[in-house]
Amino acid sequence: MQRWVLIIVSLLCLSPSLFSQQNAREEVYDLRPYTHPNFTRIAVDIGKLREYHSDTLFTPDRIYIDIYQAKLNAILHNKVISVNNGYVNQIRIAQKNTTTVRIVIDLDFEEIKRYQVFHLFDPFRIVIDIYPDYADLTQPPTEATKAAQPTKSGYSMARQLGLGVARIVIDPGHGGKDPGAIGKKGTQEKGVVLDVSKRLQKLIDSNTELEVILTRESDIYVPVENRPIIANQKRADLFISIHANANPRKNYSGVATFYLNFPSDASVMEVAARENATSTKNISEMNSILREILREDKLKESRELANRIQDSIVGHLGKNYKNITDLGVKGGPFWVLIGGDMPSILVEISHLSNSREENRLRTPEYRQQIAQAIYQGIIEYIHSLGKG
Ligand SMILES: [Zn+2]
Repeated sequence: MQRWVLIIVSLLCLSPSLFSQQNAREEVYDLRPYTHPNFTRIAVDIGKLREYHSDTLFTPDRIYIDIYQAKLNAILHNKVISVNNGYVNQIRIAQKNTTTVRIVIDLDFEEIKRYQVFHLFDPFRIVIDIYPDYADLTQPPTEATKAAQPTKSGYSMARQLGLGVARIVIDPGHGGKDPGAIGKKGTQEKGVVLDVSKRLQKLIDSNTELEVILTRESDIYVPVENRPIIANQKRADLFISIHANANPRKNYSGVATFYLNFPSDASVMEVAARENATSTKNISEMNSILREILREDKLKESRELANRIQDSIVGHLGKNYKNITDLGVKGGPFWVLIGGDMPSILVEISHLSNSREENRLRTPEYRQQIAQAIYQGIIEYIHSLGKG
């Protein structure tokens, strides 16, 4: 006799018209399992309300949940989280097709009493609770959700220049609760840089065989420390973080590109402090970390990539716009550039704190020019390796 009982299989039924109004795929950005003495809870974080369906499959035993109109954040692609607590073996998550994300829980139905799938709001998340055979069901679970650290698994091989460049990770800065810099007209850095990143992705996709991965594809919060981890997991050959700058002096403007190094001057520290602000770690911790991780080959290649991109942006914009200031290429202590095994740069495409540049950043033409310039900088860098 099967001792497990299915209590709830939720199917959120909403009219199709509601979804056609918001048919954009929403990003699934975290998967958090917790083993409690009485049950196992798996929380799946999604930015907005999504329709989902769950069911069971046998030989081997598993529960699956399909989330519709959804896409996975890059850090979760084909992720397997092992639980191994005696009744849940592991959790797998993958993009099943272009619009469906599937979560599979491998478990042993003989060892569980029941399970339930339901959702919670603000932010929208799907929760799967699984009770082992020995669970005391008179003690219902509380919403015990301690913040879980994402597992820092996945480690890429050291980059070998001889292999050339096949894969590029583009990192649109900030997102979600972190807007980044905000201009006088209310233009938010997180939105501008996501748009520029998508334009850049499109250019690379349609003109080359290179694979492009974005660290975020929508307005979600991704901690800066996770971004190079995504690049390592994807075995990326280049990492390009895209930002828009801010400066207390409103007349200050221009384009700058950074690579990871000790700061060359005080102005770099200002930019780094601002861009690092969302990180939990502080700058004093960084010097010792920097000393450990700064490798000569990565530094040299990063500086070279930074030079190509900086020259390309300044050259490109200079042809079409007046007063484009070349703030140059500098080394600086940026968290987002630490930990990636590949040449990594951060580009400040213009200043949102400057009215003229904020106005320009609001236009699709200017964004496209910048994307085009970064694209050409990347291509020139690859050619310089003699492999492109
Ligand atoms: Zn930024």
